[in-house]
Amino acid sequence: MPAPRARRDPEQRAAEVLRDHVLDPLFAPVNVELVAKSCDAEVRYVTLDQDLSGMLIRDGDRKVIAVADHHPRVRRRYTIAHELGHLVMHPGRPYIVESSHAVRIDHRQNTPGFADQREEREANQFAAALLMPPGLISQHWGLQGGEVSKAMIAQMAALFDVSPIAMQYRLINLGLFIPHDAEEELQRPF
Ligand SMILES: [Zn+2]
Repeated sequence: MPAPRARRDPEQRAAEVLRDHVLDPLFAPVNVELVAKSCDAEVRYVTLDQDLSGMLIRDGDRKVIAVADHHPRVRRRYTIAHELGHLVMHPGRPYIVESSHAVRIDHRQNTPGFADQREEREANQFAAALLMPPGLISQHWGLQGGEVSKAMIAQMAALFDVSPIAMQYRLINLGLFIPHDAEEELQRPF
């Protein structure tokens, strides 16, 4: 039996985690390490193969999020949030390995240790919602006036401690920003 849809909605699950595990008031940047700690997950910065960005390991009651220490801080924060998404939404797998390359996603299906495409998408949505909660985003974005510029997006990204591309992607998804250049490529949101 699949879980009820509401339990799987990444946006809602992230909001619940923030509500249950973050001290009021919520402010930017979201302290993702503290959220992980509140979820009883241990965060470790480790040297991983260049092709890997992180891992989630579940061993009995112990939950470890391993993050590639060679990645920049914004990327590490995103990886922690992404793994928390797996932890909260995808029970059962003893471990999940994250490839750095989105291109490999097609090969993940039915490969032990790799989440499937749907789970990956959900974990990415969860990560975006956790690091860039809609209420906080609109609170800060609402202060911006005039034409949207790259500088404004970069400023928001710096405030939320995420990459500019992750922020741009989030603003688009929340309907707060429509890029002029429709051909602008939106890669994996890191
Ligand atoms: Zn994943």
